[in-house]
Amino acid sequence: MSTIEKVECLIIGSGPAGYTAAIYAARAGLKPLMYTGMQPGGQLTITTEVENYPGYPKGIQGPEMMEDFKAQAERFGTDIRFGYASKVDFTGPVHKVWVDETTEIHANTVVIATGASAKWLGLPSEERLNGFGVSACAVCDGFFFKQQDVAIVGAGDTAAEEATYLSKICKKVYMIVRRSEMRASKAMQDRVKNTPNIEILWDSETKEILGEKAVDGALITNLKTGEERKLDITGFFVAIGHTPNTLIFKDWITMDEQGYIETIPGTSKTNIKGVFAVGDAQDKVYRQAVTAAGSGCMGALDAERYLAEIGVH
Ligand code: NDP
Repeated sequence: MSTIEKVECLIIGSGPAGYTAAIYAARAGLKPLMYTGMQPGGQLTITTEVENYPGYPKGIQGPEMMEDFKAQAERFGTDIRFGYASKVDFTGPVHKVWVDETTEIHANTVVIATGASAKWLGLPSEERLNGFGVSACAVCDGFFFKQQDVAIVGAGDTAAEEATYLSKICKKVYMIVRRSEMRASKAMQDRVKNTPNIEILWDSETKEILGEKAVDGALITNLKTGEERKLDITGFFVAIGHTPNTLIFKDWITMDEQGYIETIPGTSKTNIKGVFAVGDAQDKVYRQAVTAAGSGCMGALDAERYLAEIGVH
């Protein structure tokens, strides 16, 4: 049997968006309840150094930064619990969310901050060297490979954009494309093709990322000829797409075909009154900690205004 708990504001997810929503909601007296999800702190807990978040002039480790976010949310009284939201029912004015099959939350407002997960190739070496030369975010980690040779896998807009970004920092960028064409928009493809220090490896697959403690190479197979090539690189970027963690909402919330939640432009409002979406669950373009945090603030402010409108707070 599940217990029922009533709250004014439920926040699902604990990345920069969720914690920022919590800080604002708690300071506004909404007594927010947060469920962290299976990866408390979100994607930043699997990165190392974060140098582009304002307010940390010397940079900070991703996990440590998320501890700071959490401490700040707790300071104002957010009830933070480890737990996974597995089902929702957004039929009525009160929104129902089930957590770990044991708890049923009835919330006047819900802030969805469930984020997105990077897709990976699935190689054991990729997992072992994650954070030690392997990264899924060129904007976050490209700087650490200044004047070095790196590779990036993928052929969509993200891969093309990140290859271009890396080409300005790194000495040489190998772009590993599995087919003989790219999915990226023509303009982005042209930019990549016209950048002298980007070499595109068509019809190519990564067999292994090399290195004991840090990346020092990669083995690439040409799928047409079977030929194998060793790249001397120190950074390996994976840009093969992200999956927004929004599956449990799909019967209720309007999303695009990839599962990113659609919000009313300039707000965090979804198609369901009282349900707001923030961070990477609704942003496939910027995907930065600072933009996620900004949208988390919007979610809390929108929730607060909605509660005032319906006379709850
Ligand atoms: P996409 O899903 O568009 O592209 C993923 C790419 O990764 C594809 O080229 C795919 O290859 C390749 N890929 C997938 N799995 C593997 C694998 N196992 N091994 C090798 N390659 C693989 O993801 P994006 O992140 O690029 O873009 C997501 C969305 O966001 C798109 O709609 C995009 O247009 C949009 N976007 C827009 C931007 C902008 O407007 N500035 C910037 C960034 C993204 P294949 O083509 O063979 O399937």
